[in-house]
Amino acid sequence: MNDRFVVVGAGTMGLGIAYVAAGAGHAVELVEVDPGRAAEAPVRLASLWDRAVQRGKLDADEAAANRERLVVRTSLAEVAAEPGVLVEAVPERLELKRAVLAVAATLRPALLGSNTSSISIGELAVGLPQPERFLGLHFFNPVWAMALLEVVVGPATAPETTDTAVTLARRLGKDPVVVRDLPGFATSRLGVALGLEAIRMVADGVASPADIDKAMVLGYRHPVGPLELTDMVGLDVRLDIARTLQTAYGDRFAPPPLLVEMVAEGRLGKKSGQGFYRWVDGVKQ
Ligand code: NAD
Repeated sequence: MNDRFVVVGAGTMGLGIAYVAAGAGHAVELVEVDPGRAAEAPVRLASLWDRAVQRGKLDADEAAANRERLVVRTSLAEVAAEPGVLVEAVPERLELKRAVLAVAATLRPALLGSNTSSISIGELAVGLPQPERFLGLHFFNPVWAMALLEVVVGPATAPETTDTAVTLARRLGKDPVVVRDLPGFATSRLGVALGLEAIRMVADGVASPADIDKAMVLGYRHPVGPLELTDMVGLDVRLDIARTLQTAYGDRFAPPPLLVEMVAEGRLGKKSGQGFYRWVDGVKQ
């Protein structure tokens, strides 16, 4: 497998995956269709590397080398064939992901991955010419800080593809778990259940978002409360996941009306500056 690493989508997750892949020595091509986001991506990554240098976590030469290893593209048509790894991190919609994966597969990557949080890998694989090379590579937010990589094995994934993904995870400094392809996998199914219930509790007036979060942090030793985590993930992202899980498991995953309302109003959490908390320059107020 060669060192070329393609990431599709330069949102919350795509940027994080590109950051980690470049840091592990891969030549990264980050593909983003939105011209504004494509222009912003290298600036945001450069500022993340600068911050790591200021905090003494990276030396300046390494940061410069990481920047050199990154190229931003606005279409998969600009990417040369046969990269080592290609991971899609576009929004959580089955048809959009299928369309992106269909084009991605024409490049014949050695390993084709989806960063989906909840959609079945088997369903995403429908129509792919080499489904044996495809699996879920579920990174966590923020990618540079979170150790877990959930490797999701689809019905057609070859055992050697899973082995390659586990080796890749370790090279990226991640600790992998290998899970079966059921909607929501091992993580989102449980994490989203908690997040949705916390939102229903806000709507019921049980306590303020800050106190509900504090109860879970102090009472259950969660590092971050479920509402702050929902803000960090993005309310729109969690709404899409809830809808996928509702289709799979029924109304216990029905999105609470408050979540639907907040997304409709553009209160998406950290990325929009307002969710259950107010955020300024990525910092909770
Ligand atoms: P996001 O909305 O922040 O970013 C998605 C990006 O994809 C956007 O910049 C969008 O312009 C771009 N895009 C859309 N169509 C494209 C195309 N055809 N080609 C190239 N780029 C395209 O979303 P996100 O939060 O980064 O989530 C992406 C995926 O990662 C989803 O499947 C989500 O479920 C999963 N995920 C998210 C989190 C999280 O905490 N946000 C955690 C784990 C997994």
